[in-house]
Amino acid sequence: LVVATGAIPSRPPIDGLDRYGPADGVHLLHTMGDTHAIMASITERPVGSAVIVGAGYIGLEMAEALTARDIAVTQVEQLPEVLPTVDPELGLLVAEQLRTHGVDVRTSTRIASIERKDGRLVVHGAHTQTNEAFVRTTDLVLVVTGVKPDTALAAATGIPLTSRGAIQVDHYMRTGLPDVYAAGDCVLTHHRLLGETYLPLGTTAHKQGRVAGENAIGGQRRFAGSLGTQAVKVFDLVAARTGIRDHEAAPAGYARTGQLLGVQMVGAIATAVHKRIDTAATAIFRELTIDEVSDLDLSYTPPLGSPWDVLQAAAQLWARKVSPQTVPSSS
Ligand SMILES: Cc1cc2nc3c(=O)[nH]c(=O)nc-3n(C[C@H](O)[C@H](O)[C@H](O)COP(=O)(O)OP(=O)(O)OC[C@H]3O[C@@H](n4cnc5c(N)ncnc54)[C@H](O)[C@@H]3O)c2cc1C
Repeated sequence: LVVATGAIPSRPPIDGLDRYGPADGVHLLHTMGDTHAIMASITERPVGSAVIVGAGYIGLEMAEALTARDIAVTQVEQLPEVLPTVDPELGLLVAEQLRTHGVDVRTSTRIASIERKDGRLVVHGAHTQTNEAFVRTTDLVLVVTGVKPDTALAAATGIPLTSRGAIQVDHYMRTGLPDVYAAGDCVLTHHRLLGETYLPLGTTAHKQGRVAGENAIGGQRRFAGSLGTQAVKVFDLVAARTGIRDHEAAPAGYARTGQLLGVQMVGAIATAVHKRIDTAATAIFRELTIDEVSDLDLSYTPPLGSPWDVLQAAAQLWARKVSPQTVPSSS
């Protein structure tokens, strides 16, 4: 048996979220059914504006999608910057991109309630630091604030879960019950640098599913582990990351060894950020040092880059900052 029940969208404690639904213009976005419901909402009645609660990658993609349909979007995020999976300095670039395309970005703002008034929706919240009130009257509210593992079936069956509610699996995707495997958004993620964590991504789900399926019929394949590699397109910009960030490195026991542990990038679509991050992911997967990144034989042609790829230039810049006397400067 392979359990692959996926995840369910988290429902933040917003008053009204349980009372209103797609017929009122209040939506979650997780399934194809949710997509069809949103399409129905924006095509079957006039929708001039929308509030998106959450500025993770799905919220950002939806800001672009609704803007493309001439809907005025307000994007609300309770954390200090959008796209909290990258450092705030990079999140700021993404926020600027949203604003350039007319999105009203409200960070450090937490939504507390939604109510229906005179046929429209009124969203109430407050700034998390100043407590200044946030009120917006709108036609559509989209709540996209992450997911949690869907493990009700597994729990009822007695399959052991982690403290965060994901199915406990080993690297062979075996659960704690004999002959029962599990994969995807319902299981914990074995991370190559962090150990056990929860990182629901389609790329990871595909790999875990392949391992679980093969082993369920007698194979011995091992899930190599995730690096949380991900990319998101926001209008003309792409943001991507792989590996871990500064604040994760020290608690995970990493000192300054020179090993490449994480890379984050933001760039225009034409700069192929999503593929450059894959070079970084490959380097981290093979435990290269930052110095060794400069040795990689990466391609070069003047219209598309320079002899040192931007990843190598960044590696050299980093190395110069850490040990200025040992690293030659790059052009
Ligand atoms: C809008 C959106 C955009 C995304 N974009 C990206 C992206 O760009 N890149 C990326 O890597 N990931 C992305 N993801 C995440 C990706 O979709 C998931 O990580 C992936 O689908 C997980 O696969 P899964 O098979 O574990 O779960 P799912 O695809 O969720 O499938 C689980 C299925 O099990 C069914 N199920 C649950 N319980 C039962 C039961 N008791 N009986 C029968 N069936 C049951 C569910 O209905 C569901 O259809 C995105 C997700 C969303 C919602």
